[in-house]
Amino acid sequence: MVISVASGKGGTGKTLVATNLALTLSDKGKVQLLDCDVEEPNVHIFLHSDMNQSQPVLIPIPEIDEAKCTYCGKCAEICAYNAIAVVKNKVLVFPELCHGCGACSYLCPESAISEKGREIGVVERASLGNLELVQGRLTVGEAMAPPIIREVKGHIDPTSTVIIDVPPGTSCPVIESVKGSDFCLLVTEPTPFGLSDFSLAVEVVRKLGIPCGVVINRDGVGDDKVEKYCQEQGIPILLKIPLDRNIAMLYSKGIPLIEGMPRWHDTFLRLFEDTKGILAGQVAK
Ligand code: SF4
Ligand code: SF4
Repeated sequence: MVISVASGKGGTGKTLVATNLALTLSDKGKVQLLDCDVEEPNVHIFLHSDMNQSQPVLIPIPEIDEAKCTYCGKCAEICAYNAIAVVKNKVLVFPELCHGCGACSYLCPESAISEKGREIGVVERASLGNLELVQGRLTVGEAMAPPIIREVKGHIDPTSTVIIDVPPGTSCPVIESVKGSDFCLLVTEPTPFGLSDFSLAVEVVRKLGIPCGVVINRDGVGDDKVEKYCQEQGIPILLKIPLDRNIAMLYSKGIPLIEGMPRWHDTFLRLFEDTKGILAGQVAK
């Protein structure tokens, strides 16, 4: 079972939910926690884990064989990202713009393009008993998160329960992270900004055909518009985490909620059981 934990907006508490859910479930069996927030992976802070395995993530970028090239310009024409240009008797490649799609090498009529790998980040892993953490880390200055997210998800073990910490927002990295999940937990806060970004996230998961439920974090901080929206849209609210100074303090110290306040262990267990219940209900239909 793969559960992704997403939020339309950063800072809503999605990592809090993902880490505590994963830690809770790891008491019962094998769990993988995938940190797909590759621009700023922070799950490891809460697990106090040293990443003990690291492998580079490469994307294939074109290399031109000038001896074969006729400077016909087809490669520049086909590149949707302006990563290759043909000027007079020179082919220029801009590696930072290249998405490694392979179209130019595939379509070059002279077979003058080969591919070489360019490192854009790493995938790191750590084991903590039943819990395996896999995180992607995009190199600072690089722009392409999806290839790293694909590598992270390539480590999914189908015999484990998998929790995915999704990057904030609703763009390509989010879609790459969420797609293929059995269920998506959307974490939001009950404020106008929270509702605006949350409703965009709901649209994304619905387009992907993934069932979802809601966790309202910092309950009590704003108004009831998120709850009303959930009622109108038929989205179940599975958990409310109150606005609580002690919870915020634990988070700021990098202490998981279920460690600092063990009574939350049962709450996260119930969250998982409710999620399973929703999925079972859908299968029964
Ligand atoms: S498509 Fe091939 S032959 Fe044509 S300019 Fe590009 S590299 Fe050269
Ligand atoms: S691999 Fe794709 S993105 Fe990169 S230069 Fe070729 S066509 Fe453009």
